Amino acid sequence: MIVFNLGCGNNHRFEGWFASNEDFERQSESKLVTCPLCGNANVSRLPHAPHIGSGSKERSSATAAPAQPKQQYANVGKELLARMVEQVLENTEDVGAAFPEEARKIHYHETPERRIRGTASREEVDALKDEGIEVVALAIPAHRMSKTH
Ligand SMILES: [Zn+2]
Repeated sequence: MIVFNLGCGNNHRFEGWFASNEDFERQSESKLVTCPLCGNANVSRLPHAPHIGSGSKERSSATAAPAQPKQQYANVGKELLARMVEQVLENTEDVGAAFPEEARKIHYHETPERRIRGTASREEVDALKDEGIEVVALAIPAHRMSKTH
C-alpha cells in the first residue's frame, strides 16, 4: 500500500491509500477518488509531507491520520462581533430547529442553496461536521433571538 497526500479543489487535504501509483491514477481518472470532507472529485496529489520520527525506509502507517482542517478564529472586538451577528441575522433565513435537516439538504443539493440559521444540539453539529457541512456557532443576543423557539 502507498499513502498519498491528496488535495481537493476546495483546498482540503487528506490521505489516500492505494495499491500502487497506477491504482491511484486509474481511480483518480474514473473520479473514484473524492474528498472525504466535501465530496469534491477534483483530487490531485500533493508533495509528500515528511513523516516525523520515521527512521525506517518503509513509510510508517502508524502515523497516517487524515488531516483535519483547522477551525478559523478571529480576535474581533465585541462591537465588530455584534455587527457580524446583525449581518448574519439580516442575510440568513431562520429555520429554527429544522437547521440540521435544512443544512444537510442544502449540502446535498436537495434544496436551493441559501444561507440559513437555526438551532442544533452539540451532537447534531458534530454529525454535520462529520459530513463535511460547515456550520459556525453564533452568539446571538437574547433580544434578537427568534420567537419561534
Ligand atoms: Zn474537499
